Amino acid sequence: MAQPLFLFDIDGTLLSRAGPHHRLALEHAASLAAGRHITTEGVPVAGMLDRDIVRLMLSQAGVADKRIGQWMPGIVASAQRHYPRICPDLRHRVCPGMRPFLARLKRRGIACGLVTGNLSRIGWHKMHQAGLRHCFHFGAFAEMGRTRAELAQLAISQARRQRLCAPDAPIYLVGDHLNDIRAARENGIAIISVTTGPMTREELSAFAPDFLLDDIRSLPSEIIDS
Ligand SMILES: [Mg+2]
Repeated sequence: MAQPLFLFDIDGTLLSRAGPHHRLALEHAASLAAGRHITTEGVPVAGMLDRDIVRLMLSQAGVADKRIGQWMPGIVASAQRHYPRICPDLRHRVCPGMRPFLARLKRRGIACGLVTGNLSRIGWHKMHQAGLRHCFHFGAFAEMGRTRAELAQLAISQARRQRLCAPDAPIYLVGDHLNDIRAARENGIAIISVTTGPMTREELSAFAPDFLLDDIRSLPSEIIDS
């Protein structure tokens, strides 16, 4: 059987409670563009792509769609510049079992990628601050697509193009949110749901993920050992 490919969401999956800095970077960038304070308050951020969060924040503040579109490239750039300035050390925010699990995949030569709603510099910086940067070969980030399913598709194509996995490799997406389950389903890949994020076991089980785990330590070992 071909070696599997693993794709990981970041927030709630690799990292838990990474702090308000990401949200603050988006607020900073949106406020700069609008010339007044713009907040993420009332915006559901979990499982969302950063550009959608920005769009919702601004639209909630009464900014017209057309203007949001004009401002978006500048906001994306300034949020990514701002986040590394305020991001703390995240090494103690890695979810239970993730660090040894990623090390095990690396030892076995199994390719790992990111599929995240974070903007790319924010996502890579989080991985750097968590001491996990070396675990990932590639990633698909918020500014690269409109939906998480598109991002997963991009990551899969990238892995195949770079021959990081065989064409018939089983592919697993690990995520903490319903939106990760949707993205996996739309791409016909397996979903490993973990309850290390804001969604509960009951909420996730309603969508029948292939695996539903308290954390990655409960993943049956034959998945990577076969
Ligand atoms: Mg997540």
